[in-house]
Amino acid sequence: MAEYNPFENVLKVVDNAASLLGYPPQDYEMIKYPERELQVSVPVEMDDGSVRVFDGYRVQHSTLRGPAKGGLRYHPNVNKDEVKALAAWMTFKCAVVNIPYGGAKGGVVVDPFKLSKGELRRLTRRFTSMIAPVIGPDSDIPAPDVGTNAEVMGWIMDTYSMLRGHCVPGVVTGKPLSVGGAPGRNEATGRGVMLSTLNILKKMDMPVNGVSVAVQGFGNVGSITSKLLHEKGAKIVAASDVSGGLYCAEGLDIPRILEFTSGGKLLEGYEQEGVKHIGNEELLGVDCTVLIPAALENQINDKTVDNVKAKIIVEAANGPTTVESDAILEKKGVTIVPDILANAGGVVVSYFEWVQNIQSMYWTEEEVNARMEPIMNRSFEEVWDISKEKGVPMRTGAYLIAIKRVVEAQKTRGLWP
Ligand code: GLU
Repeated sequence: MAEYNPFENVLKVVDNAASLLGYPPQDYEMIKYPERELQVSVPVEMDDGSVRVFDGYRVQHSTLRGPAKGGLRYHPNVNKDEVKALAAWMTFKCAVVNIPYGGAKGGVVVDPFKLSKGELRRLTRRFTSMIAPVIGPDSDIPAPDVGTNAEVMGWIMDTYSMLRGHCVPGVVTGKPLSVGGAPGRNEATGRGVMLSTLNILKKMDMPVNGVSVAVQGFGNVGSITSKLLHEKGAKIVAASDVSGGLYCAEGLDIPRILEFTSGGKLLEGYEQEGVKHIGNEELLGVDCTVLIPAALENQINDKTVDNVKAKIIVEAANGPTTVESDAILEKKGVTIVPDILANAGGVVVSYFEWVQNIQSMYWTEEEVNARMEPIMNRSFEEVWDISKEKGVPMRTGAYLIAIKRVVEAQKTRGLWP
């Protein structure tokens, strides 16, 4: 098997959707390439006095519909093709929920859990200074992703502001509340995944109460999705993190697990009667109605796809399913709520945060949630309707909507010069 290349995955999906829309290749050729790629080598003084140099990237896939927008990932497996794919997914995600952004992503090849707080802060500040020429509230706005959090966003905001000589809160979203973060942003991606799950269950005439759900990944998105679905009455039968997973057919005690992990502990250390320890791949194949991959890309692949027993997959991670596995699942009759729709709640609330920063006007958490919900629900309905109308899976439906919006923006603007 050829090595998995997520950007090739993106290109296949774009080609498929664009040709279904009847666009000639010249109309969408441009969106198959990122507009700008910046690669930097980030020197950092470590606590022991040595200097280590980390590879970093910021890729802006598109600014056709607005400033580039997307997270910043700290992970040892970050590489250019991954960042390019993640940047393109941001373009289509923002288009599918119709917020005025293009798409971008950044990453640093580092295991953040192996650095001290001081090392992480110096890395973030130096990286920010090196991408400062291409980011800004009007051009490209980073946000949290795998391995980064509100604290890291706060350092980015401070570094950028120091370089500009004045406070620029709108340069980054997902910040701490004390420096212009939006209440509800931390929970927003998980809340959006929960809403997407409720929406698909409703379409399939299945009550949420007692529905069995398996969640792969217990970071920000997986843990909050589990919490919110548990509160809605769903039975979370399995959950996992990097250390492995937990399984209980009667449903896991999510509040107790959240309390356990809140101090930074991993699930491998969790013990409770009736709870079995399982592997991460095993989790994908447990008996459940809804499977929620909330970790990294390329999880449902040629090795794992045949074990999937779920009837519904709600993609909380970006790109968790390979193109080939997608086709296999479709044949099996599995309904997939695609990543660019299901996990868009985060960037929707990022948009609110940016709008608030620019206007220096702030909303309450209730207002933030009340504005996000209709956007998620409307986008879900649009994707559902087009997929029924055209007889295609929801992923293709989402791309039909997204690509049309991006291509129409390009055609309206015209090709400069
Ligand atoms: N990293 C998140 C995502 O993949 C959030 C991006 C943002 O808020 O800009 O959607």
